[in-house]
Amino acid sequence: MPRRPSPSLLRALSDLLGVKGFSTDADAMAPWLTDWRGKYHGRAAAMLSPASTEEVAAVVRLCAEADAALVPQGGNSGMVGGATPDASGDQLLLSLRRMNRVRHIDVAAGIAIAEAGVILQSFHDAVLTHGLRFPLTLGGKGSATIGGLVSTNAGGTQVLRHGTMRALVAGIEAVLPDGSIFDGLAPLKKDNRGYDLRHLFCGAEGTLGVVTAAALHLVRAATARRTAWIGVESPETALALLRRLDAAIGRTLEGFELIPHACLDAVLRHIPGTRAPLADAHPWYVLAELAGDDDTALGDALEGQLAAALDAGLVRDVALAKNDRESDDFWRLRDSISEAERADGPALQHDISVPVDLMPAFIADNPVRLGAAFPGARALSFGHLGDGNVHHHVQPPHGIDGAAWIAAHGADVSRLVYTHVVELGGSISAEHGIGQMKRDILAELDSPARLAALRGVKHGLDPAGIFNPGKLIG
Ligand SMILES: Cc1cc2nc3c(=O)[nH]c(=O)nc-3n(C[C@H](O)[C@H](O)[C@H](O)COP(=O)(O)OP(=O)(O)OC[C@H]3O[C@@H](n4cnc5c(N)ncnc54)[C@H](O)[C@@H]3O)c2cc1C
Repeated sequence: MPRRPSPSLLRALSDLLGVKGFSTDADAMAPWLTDWRGKYHGRAAAMLSPASTEEVAAVVRLCAEADAALVPQGGNSGMVGGATPDASGDQLLLSLRRMNRVRHIDVAAGIAIAEAGVILQSFHDAVLTHGLRFPLTLGGKGSATIGGLVSTNAGGTQVLRHGTMRALVAGIEAVLPDGSIFDGLAPLKKDNRGYDLRHLFCGAEGTLGVVTAAALHLVRAATARRTAWIGVESPETALALLRRLDAAIGRTLEGFELIPHACLDAVLRHIPGTRAPLADAHPWYVLAELAGDDDTALGDALEGQLAAALDAGLVRDVALAKNDRESDDFWRLRDSISEAERADGPALQHDISVPVDLMPAFIADNPVRLGAAFPGARALSFGHLGDGNVHHHVQPPHGIDGAAWIAAHGADVSRLVYTHVVELGGSISAEHGIGQMKRDILAELDSPARLAALRGVKHGLDPAGIFNPGKLIG
């Protein structure tokens, strides 16, 4: 059981880190004690901001000796309260934001080593100057850090072609819970020395130690992209279109996002300067993007495939972006869904995955189950259809106090959604992780064998439980 940090521990940490790296100032800590969604509010005995791997290791050694709890934090853009300390005020916030150097870019090998606190957007900019691209992006790229992205095994809109963070991490440097440094940055293609610690840290949510740096795979910067906004009848037809594009031009297909009309409608109502790409409304839309080097070939491929899909009755209408600005406008519609939804009122968010072929059935059946159990509840599914992952949001019935409805029914609504997902062999967290938000439901619905294995790993590496207590697994 972690203990409250003693005054002598706080003094030792302050001496170690100096004024730039140690703070107990309430105003300085305040922005980092509430999560991005504003759902979780914590307190901390101090905020520690080491500037090097050696400083992180020294911090962890001091805390391990004193059994003091550490909550690693990057950009605080996580969605499940994973980086928010508890309300006791006894935990120490360990910010990695000062570790923000891109240490090395190996252009020939297509590998860069970035420290944990490098912000995703800055990393994109840094590698682009070498004609390279880190093929993972997401709406929180202006805040999310490499350490946070590794620790949540983040996804985003290019997983279809390039995979999640786990596929992009070539090596890792981490400080383990006893304060020792694991240097696994060498980007080995083949390494069969047993358990893969690199992958263990992907998605560990700060419960197994601190990621201090990562070696990351890069690809050549795409010089061309083609984007289409496509009206379709249903998730089934969207999936049939995906299969068709994948078979014909899958090597260049980077994005395939499913959007219901209700989401587009919310964006158009709430986000200034947005407009519908198609003249008529359609029940569902697909935002598809190809990336590559040959602009003409990409354009011909996309136009040809979509014309054939129109002829086959798979697609109702298509708008092709004529230039980069129009592509950005299409993506803005997609990326603004969460903001527009927030303006519409409270909702229960579930980021779930099921096998891709079962997704249309889930999207159709789950609202029926919800309607039977919670009359008037409205469900919206949008996102990464090609990955079998949608954001499945449930809004309260119209005309009632939404916050009160969520307070009364939220847990049962989510249980209904997650139980359905588990029945289909899916995951209750496709992207955002477990954090504190889903810890109890994971313990309730996951298989005993899997939970026991997760606990074994956690207790084996962190027997005193000082790393991010209360998150992911007990
Ligand atoms: C607008 C918006 C859109 C988003 N879209 C997506 C999306 O499409 N796909 C997706 O996957 N996510 C998405 N996210 C969620 C979020 O951006 C990711 O979870 C991101 O990986 C969090 O990075 P962070 O640096 O902010 O981590 P934090 O929020 O600070 O931390 C997240 C977790 O990682 C741990 N952690 C952080 N740094 C370290 C470290 N160095 N060592 C060990 N543990 C650490 C924390 O303890 C916590 O458990 C979105 C967020 C926003 C705000």
